[in-house]
Amino acid sequence: MAEAMQPDPARTQNPLTVSGLNAYYGRAQVLFDVAIEPVGGAVTALLGRNGAGKTTLLKSIAGAADVRKIGDIRLNGRPIYGLPAHKLAGHGVVLVPEDRRILGNLSVRGNLRLGRHAALRGKREPMTIDDVVELLPNIRPLLDRGGTRLSGGEQQMVAIGRALMGRPSLLLMDEPSTGLAPVVLDDLRAGILRLAEKLSMTILLSEQNSAFALGICAHVVIIDRGRIVFAGTRDEFVTDPELARKYLAV
Ligand code: ATP
Repeated sequence: MAEAMQPDPARTQNPLTVSGLNAYYGRAQVLFDVAIEPVGGAVTALLGRNGAGKTTLLKSIAGAADVRKIGDIRLNGRPIYGLPAHKLAGHGVVLVPEDRRILGNLSVRGNLRLGRHAALRGKREPMTIDDVVELLPNIRPLLDRGGTRLSGGEQQMVAIGRALMGRPSLLLMDEPSTGLAPVVLDDLRAGILRLAEKLSMTILLSEQNSAFALGICAHVVIIDRGRIVFAGTRDEFVTDPELARKYLAV
């Protein structure tokens, strides 16, 4: 039985390390000396007020072209700083953007298939649509529906499903709860929990809705005006209500 108690190194290693990251739009600096190391195989919530820099941090990690940045970003110890988004996707870093970007001229099945490219580029086996539907069963009845005929919650599920098709090792989700009704959030929460548990994937999920994020995450990072002001476990965060009052209350 002792063997079963040994941590699995693949699960416990933290794949991403970011340090000394400064990011800019033009001359305006938005991130200041950011360091973050999401825990491998777990969900980390990146919390912060509107405009705190959550999207910019996720975009910096994912190689978005519109963010100018200086700093050190490593994936499994290798520098990935400066690589464009498509190369990073090949290395398993996939962003689910806040606006979801579902293509209206394709069916849900067609949108999901687009996600395969990240895996193929990185010579990994893509997930199948059946794999994705098993993790996110709400997608099944939508498969033949056109991309324009989806509610916000359906679009979010499909955007996550499309990212999964690329078999990411690091999944970045930008404010998945945005604009969704409470009943839809329950489904979304269940879906993200299921994939986190079944795939032991490293997930960094930004949220303004901290109640939603706390229903999913094991770890919390808070960003305030472009600076990381807290990193700890979910329990450390919830037992210190001053953190939410100081950095998250509007
Ligand atoms: P939100 O919850 O509103 O998405 P956020 O925490 O994700 O907020 P960011 O979107 O990263 O915050 O924005 C951080 C700062 O950068 C804000 O002051 C914002 O106005 C600015 N900003 C964001 N995108 C751009 C851009 N493309 N060009 C210039 N400034 C930008």
